[in-house]
Amino acid sequence: MDGTAYLGLRGVEVDLADRNPRRIWHYAGLKVDEPIRPNAIDVLLTSRDEPNASLFVQGSAFAAGLRERAPHLSQRARQLRRRRIWITLLALFTGLVAAGFVLSWSPAKWIAKTLPLSWRERLGNAARDSMTEGYKECVDPAGVAALKTLSERLSKGVPAGTTFDIHVYDWPLMNAFAVPGEQIVLTKGLIDKAGSADEVAGVLAHEMGHGIETDPEAALIRGVGLGAALQIMLGGTAGGGLANVGLMLAQLGYSRGAEHKADIHALELLKAAGISQRGLGDFFTRVTKKETEGGSPTGAVSWLRTHPLPAERARLVRTQAAYPATPALDATQWEDLKSICRVTRDPKEDADKS
Ligand SMILES: [Zn+2]
Repeated sequence: MDGTAYLGLRGVEVDLADRNPRRIWHYAGLKVDEPIRPNAIDVLLTSRDEPNASLFVQGSAFAAGLRERAPHLSQRARQLRRRRIWITLLALFTGLVAAGFVLSWSPAKWIAKTLPLSWRERLGNAARDSMTEGYKECVDPAGVAALKTLSERLSKGVPAGTTFDIHVYDWPLMNAFAVPGEQIVLTKGLIDKAGSADEVAGVLAHEMGHGIETDPEAALIRGVGLGAALQIMLGGTAGGGLANVGLMLAQLGYSRGAEHKADIHALELLKAAGISQRGLGDFFTRVTKKETEGGSPTGAVSWLRTHPLPAERARLVRTQAAYPATPALDATQWEDLKSICRVTRDPKEDADKS
């Protein structure tokens, strides 16, 4: 269809021979297959205003005028766009390499650190549910209050925006582990073995250290694979992967470097809380000695296997400068924490009710 095209104020205005009203193809919505060169004698345009039509205009004056009014159609604009993509890719690559140096290149760790908290929480809930299956959660109000006091004290030193959620289970095995999404699982078995609230504080601070480092998230991503982890995080079920998630986390051991880092965090958290750091070294050393004496394997062995370096930990604690400290909990609160499993609730029954 023939017609006449004008360069209007807001766009290319087209008068067709069909007596329809004049159409406007706005400059911003114009596209060209071939960028308009400075010496172009014609242009072939398409437009968002009329997606199925194309417009062929002859004339170098029109082409030059259009280049001025819609600079994104020129060749230079296309070159700049291309260059921008390369610069972005280069920056991304440089960033990845830098991140690689900082995190000693662990893709799982890098992914874990970039995941939103709500996703990590979902992964953590799935892991916690599966690993604590068959055990009741301890919810004695006085015990929960004591635990809250302790957790708030320890949280003074955590990075802003981080809030740890601690759950105790009526589980005789001595265990404590960080769960994705800033959660910590503590067993009655561990509280029973602790000689003081300071020792529990030391263990919690160490597990918070793993949480701050997103060690559990990274380990699960490595363990079940990113695909399955994402499926759980996005609310789906990963079939067999879900059962594995809990098992994996419960038996998980971290690298020597990760353990050391968690200890460094623990020392800082304890210091910020004004709680003695000795509990951290004492607990690990005392329990290791006790459990390995006599050579009979007990329930604590798997936890001790995943928490090596008691000597190194004790040495680290010994070399720290002293500071004023008060007991992690007062005598009453400590008794309350020890009896937290006086009242329990079955997570399954709750799920059935809701
Ligand atoms: Zn650890």
